[in-house]
Amino acid sequence: MPEQQPDETMESRLAKIFLARFGAEPRIFRAPGRVNLIGEHADYNDGFVLPAAIELSTCTAIAPRQDQRLHVFSENLQETAEIDLTETNPQRADRWSDYVRGVALMLQKLGLQLAGGNIAIHSDIPIGAGLSSSAALAVSLASALLSNSGRSLELVEIAKLCQRAENEFVGARVGIMDQFASCFGSVGHAILLDCRTLEFQRLSLPASLEMVICNTMVKHEHSGGEYNDRRTQCEQGVAVLKRFFPAIKALRDVTLEQLHAHRTDLAALIFRRCHHVITENERVLRCANALQNRDLATAGRCMAESHASLKYDYEVSCKELDLMVEIATRREGVIGSRMTGGGFGGCTISLVETAAVEEFKRSVAKEYKATTQIAADIYVSKAGAGVTEVEVNA
Ligand code: ADP
Ligand code: MG
Repeated sequence: MPEQQPDETMESRLAKIFLARFGAEPRIFRAPGRVNLIGEHADYNDGFVLPAAIELSTCTAIAPRQDQRLHVFSENLQETAEIDLTETNPQRADRWSDYVRGVALMLQKLGLQLAGGNIAIHSDIPIGAGLSSSAALAVSLASALLSNSGRSLELVEIAKLCQRAENEFVGARVGIMDQFASCFGSVGHAILLDCRTLEFQRLSLPASLEMVICNTMVKHEHSGGEYNDRRTQCEQGVAVLKRFFPAIKALRDVTLEQLHAHRTDLAALIFRRCHHVITENERVLRCANALQNRDLATAGRCMAESHASLKYDYEVSCKELDLMVEIATRREGVIGSRMTGGGFGGCTISLVETAAVEEFKRSVAKEYKATTQIAADIYVSKAGAGVTEVEVNA
């Protein structure tokens, strides 16, 4: 395997790996991971989210094969997979190659004839840490398969088919946010996305700020079941409120006044779940507006309120996330901090002034370690670009 040179880019290294393995020069497609600045558990309630693509990404290298197969190598996992594109009813194998099979299948379901290909994948996104390595893989792969087959699709269609691949083939009940951010990311911009209509607006972030992602390094076991419970609880809230307001389709349609007017019609738990979603939607819009107006104090307050709401109303935080946010919030140069992602572990996002970042990283890592004995991974990123083909010379 080629050694990584100190100043070598991921894509030129991947091109070398590809050449050594498959004996051809590939085309390479890069898609980023993402972080959500605010708007948690909003997507499946038809609400608003404010993600940004990050500078960490997944690259998929591809060159044609003469047969109807995909031969795939993941550099991260050091594993190969072989896929027969003529198989009519592919089954999931409960491994990473399901993402590849799922994306190929969804492209085929759109009626596209896919050409065979040799494929190598490499990512610098930590896998399974909540920064959406899965969407980055799916989006870069969809772009690679399309180009390899001489086809193209609108970005929004790529985002949607990658979501379907995760939902229907991999079996992960995820919203559209991750795939959308990976497709539509833009340097220096967050994306205000309406998850109902997929209308979006790119929002420039202050150049003096960094997005700092702190991984608590914990993932509590029950998170999958809790996620499904929350979705069900939201549906229960909608079912009750619909009796009074027939036009309601999702919590997105419910105002805070309507919720309070029917507080006693809802079980206390359901009320709190709905309260989070409805207030979170309002906070996303307030935060986006504040960022646009460079009112950083308000933006930071929205992030703090979001964390509190996720902790008390939605009950998806955990002591490590609370601690990480609490430590971060006390540092100099911090605009705001909150848990990001589904919860029960994973990462926090803090907006931090560039000049304060080094000290932030050092002191947050130190204090988190002192209390938990856990060494946190910390990533610093500006908002990065969405999926693109990259030029390389192996
Ligand atoms: P996240 O998207 O937060 O990183 P997920 O659990 O949604 O976490 O997705 C992680 C899964 O995606 C991995 O378990 C693996 O199946 C697949 N995956 C992501 N990146 C790669 C990669 N570079 N190579 C192979 N599989 C990958
Ligand atoms: Mg994922």
